[in-house]
Amino acid sequence: MAVTQAPPRLEVQNLVRSFGGQAVVDDVSFAVPAGQVACLLGPSGCGKSTTLRIVAGVDMQDSGKIFVDGRLVCDTVFRVPPERRNIGMMFQDFALFPHLSVAENVAFGLGGGAKANRGRVGDLLERVRMSRHMDSYPHALSGGEQQRVALARALAPNPRILLMDEPFSGLDERLRDGIRDETLALLKEEGTAVLLVTHEPHEAMRMADQILLMRHGRIVQRGAPYNLYNAPVDGEAAAFFSDVN
Ligand code: ADP
Ligand code: MG
Repeated sequence: MAVTQAPPRLEVQNLVRSFGGQAVVDDVSFAVPAGQVACLLGPSGCGKSTTLRIVAGVDMQDSGKIFVDGRLVCDTVFRVPPERRNIGMMFQDFALFPHLSVAENVAFGLGGGAKANRGRVGDLLERVRMSRHMDSYPHALSGGEQQRVALARALAPNPRILLMDEPFSGLDERLRDGIRDETLALLKEEGTAVLLVTHEPHEAMRMADQILLMRHGRIVQRGAPYNLYNAPVDGEAAAFFSDVN
């Protein structure tokens, strides 16, 4: 009997993006199945955010293709606009709306406001342990609390894919691992496919199912975290992973 396999939630094929004749994303391909976290890992300037922005639809590749659930969303002649890609985003500077309450922030992308979406908003706030703060405003929350609300807001419309660009870098170092673990648990419950950008090997080791190690716009090694940690592709990769604890 033929087994039909679902296409990956997100697939990126041969993505290229140049600025001033210099390829900053250089033939990047990868796939992220539902329920998995893929991590673009590499030093500052290697092309991680540019890749993410192209997937989000806020920047445009020179060549290459992007598929969501096996359907083309973008190549060089065809382009589904960002708001119709069913992709959520969570960036370091993607702050909460200061004039909206916690519940209104989470309901923002849903249409109809917090009242009409009470069920979904209440459920998400409970799962990020922020129910008590439903009517608070962002300025009254700690950094970690704001981050948990931002996660609830990003997941509220039930996106097929969540893009996260250095989402924890604004947080106190001591809080980060706890919030990473909570975030990961919620993402796994939701079954979202996640593309996480980070320059921190420790974060990639802790959160990723699959690491895509980038350097100068190219993926130089890919695989499960411990495979990269135990068998780095070269001395530079070994040095990069050497201070993971
Ligand atoms: P990373 O997120 O890995 O730190 P980026 O994707 O932000 O790297 O940037 C990769 C390279 O592309 C950098 O050298 C950056 O200066 C360059 N770059 C990014 N966006 C632009 C732009 N709009 N115009 C020109 N150069 C850019
Ligand atoms: Mg970046």
